[in-house]
Amino acid sequence: KSFSDIDLGDGLKQNIKRCKYLKPTPIQRHAIPMALAGRDLMACAQTGSGKTAAFCFPIICGVLKDRLLPARCGRGRGGKMMACPLALILAPTRELSCQIHEEAKKFAYQTGAKIVVAYGGAPIAQQLHNLERGVDILVATPGRLVDMIERARVSLRMIKYLALDEADRMLDMGFEPQIRKIVEQMDMPPPGTRQTMLFSATFPNEIQRLASDFLSNYIFLSV
Ligand code: AMP
Repeated sequence: KSFSDIDLGDGLKQNIKRCKYLKPTPIQRHAIPMALAGRDLMACAQTGSGKTAAFCFPIICGVLKDRLLPARCGRGRGGKMMACPLALILAPTRELSCQIHEEAKKFAYQTGAKIVVAYGGAPIAQQLHNLERGVDILVATPGRLVDMIERARVSLRMIKYLALDEADRMLDMGFEPQIRKIVEQMDMPPPGTRQTMLFSATFPNEIQRLASDFLSNYIFLSV
């Protein structure tokens, strides 16, 4: 089984070749077709399993299709435009969010999908400026994203794809209230239109609870 057997679109497939990914890893082989079919996923996968591509490929595919729809977004406080990403990837740390951003940019090279990263512990001004220039896929740490939402600079009402990476680590770091606040922002009508992928190295009770709260009719994968 190779990437050419999966319906990923020409642009993305070329970039996968450029990255020298010859064949999908087990998590990719199972998760990508399910995600492309629109299913919610709960995946237990470690770093090194290829999980980043497993959620990035379907998100990039989806965003490239949905971008054709006109995106409307309002103005926030002070008349500043609010960024309205179509996809959100949440990660626990600056390092991981930057790593996902770098990989996602390679996967989306020359496809036109705009990817922006936002993380705490760095000045917010440049990140806000990057958002103003347009964003399809936002990679963010939970605390910084809540800050941007409270400043009315990001709206999550257009989010159609949500991935939570290293969810167990995010909970260990105390991000559960922020994550719940973020996901509440997306629960706008019409219901059932969001696709959610939850990735975690472990599957303790707290993660099972997140899965049952955030996912609908999900597929469980463990590699
Ligand atoms: P991850 O688990 O997402 O952190 O990925 C671990 C490493 O494997 C990264 O350096 C990826 O670029 C690489 N990788 C992911 N998928 C593949 C693949 N299908 N073929 C070769 N390398 C890959």
